[in-house]
Amino acid sequence: ERLDREIAEVLGLTERREKDSELFKVFSEVFDKTTVETITYFYRRGKIERLYGVLSTGKEANVFAGYDSNGNKIAVKIYRTYTTEFRRIWEYLAADPRIGSLPRDIRKLVFVWTRREYKNLQRALKYAVRAPEPIAFRNNILIMEFIGDDLPAPRLKDVEKELEKGDFEELYDFAMRSIEKLWKRGDMVHGDLSEYNILIWHEPVIIDWSQATVKRNRMSLTLLYRDIRNITNYFARKGVDVEDPEVKFRELAGD
Ligand code: ATP
Ligand code: MN
Repeated sequence: ERLDREIAEVLGLTERREKDSELFKVFSEVFDKTTVETITYFYRRGKIERLYGVLSTGKEANVFAGYDSNGNKIAVKIYRTYTTEFRRIWEYLAADPRIGSLPRDIRKLVFVWTRREYKNLQRALKYAVRAPEPIAFRNNILIMEFIGDDLPAPRLKDVEKELEKGDFEELYDFAMRSIEKLWKRGDMVHGDLSEYNILIWHEPVIIDWSQATVKRNRMSLTLLYRDIRNITNYFARKGVDVEDPEVKFRELAGD
């Protein structure tokens, strides 16, 4: 029927007939009714023309490479509507003052989570912290700017062997300035900042904003401390003369 045909189109299966392709296998994992309907919704509006590659498979989401009807490359993060991470998601959302009452339905909770990541991306960019441009969200799907050209930009972790002390120093400054800007200007904290969530492109870009939250959140100081610790620990190991994390934390948390 129509839906099947449109989904086959999005996945390029009409041309390739590769139902055992890697893409199809990964897609099948998150291939529930809501996801199919949501992709079809975006397809009909030209927001997703094609998904052609898998960028990552995670516990709570899979990320695909695709393009829209104008040929612009996009990254499409598809949250699992059934996730084992749902306790964590619930805890994080329950502590966020921006979120009103939480839905009981796990699927709907994931929709709130998806929408929150979209809002976080917007907010980070507003305060000049580099993140992918959010393009659209609906239900469990978030469409954002693709960072990379033919290939996706590598994560800091992937390229660390090729970097020199000077590169690490610059990246440390970037990370620490981002933490400060987010907290002081944006009243916000990323909460999972690490060498895995920084993409190395023309300029570094911070990704994975799902757990990011606002200062008013009762967990925000814990998350701020975690980000400062992760960043100072990592760059200290790379030989950077980092600031004292306790001092940095008190400096930021103290106001
Ligand atoms: P994990 O649980 O592994 O942290 P996640 O499910 O939270 O992953 P992200 O960290 O947002 O998802 O993305 C997973 C991977 O997908 C990233 O490490 C990166 O390689 C790739 N990726 C995510 N967003 C983009 C983007 N906008 N452009 C290019 N690649 C991206
Ligand atoms: Mn990540």
